[in-house]
Amino acid sequence: MILKYDLHSHSNFSDGKLTPTQLFQRAKNQQVTALALTDHDTTAGLLEAQTIAKSLNMQCINGIEISTTWEKKCLHILGLGINPQAPALVEGIAGLQSLRHERARKIALKLAKQKITGAYEQVVKNAGSSMITRCHFANFLLDAGHVPSFQKAFDNYLAQGKSAFVATEWVEMATAINWIQQAGGIPVLAHPLRYKLTASWMRKLLTAFKQAGGLGIEVVTGNNNAHEIHTSYEYAKKFALAASVGSDFHDPNNKWIELGRLAPLPTDIPAVWNLLSVAEE
Ligand code: AMP
Ligand code: MN
Ligand code: MN
Ligand code: MN
Repeated sequence: MILKYDLHSHSNFSDGKLTPTQLFQRAKNQQVTALALTDHDTTAGLLEAQTIAKSLNMQCINGIEISTTWEKKCLHILGLGINPQAPALVEGIAGLQSLRHERARKIALKLAKQKITGAYEQVVKNAGSSMITRCHFANFLLDAGHVPSFQKAFDNYLAQGKSAFVATEWVEMATAINWIQQAGGIPVLAHPLRYKLTASWMRKLLTAFKQAGGLGIEVVTGNNNAHEIHTSYEYAKKFALAASVGSDFHDPNNKWIELGRLAPLPTDIPAVWNLLSVAEE
């Protein structure tokens, strides 16, 4: 059987629109054979994901996308093939959950200063037991009629430098890598080109990432073009990092990104799934 991997996706346990069950059903329809659920700072959806994957005869790779800080920048580190019960990881992400609540209060205060009230209460209500993310605020702003579209909520209020943006000290990148290692997982740098770093900052970052125990880098993502794939591939090769592939799927209404709709990985560098099978043995 031909294996089709998608190693980055979100469910409604963080800012995705679908339940883990709906997500895996959709992935199955897209001929994905192995899907990693990588919700932001939570592993709470993995039990449901494993159950549905089993019934669909698919592979579910236990994952997480951890919000980290390195040199004052927010970087996302994926942990693939993790044991969600590992104490270091469980304690670590509990801290991030409180941090997200604190940040949500601060975002709501900034909105209140602009006469947009009730954001915290509504966002907490809508998020339920899920991780609160900026997407929850974007939906609140949209539903309350403050912006004409989800994207405008980021453009006008929530994106870095905008009026309701709250700079947050997440966990240090090296600490997050350590949690992933202690959970038996593979640390992968998510969407490396989205941070808009210069080549010299990228080199500095990848040196630090390797030194901390980083093993993989996303080379193919849901919306990168051939040139961007090539740039990421060059970084993978230069820093001897395994190449990963993931759509970063959130929402079926986003027509640009689909589960499993991904360019093939270059074949002359190791793929991250080879490390995963080693980790699972
Ligand atoms: P958070 O981790 O709570 O800061 O939320 C980040 C999430 O918001 C990302 O994972 C994306 O799903 C989404 N996001 C971040 N920046 C933007 C943007 N400029 N436009 C649309 N969505 C964004
Ligand atoms: Mn997201
Ligand atoms: Mn991300
Ligand atoms: Mn993501």
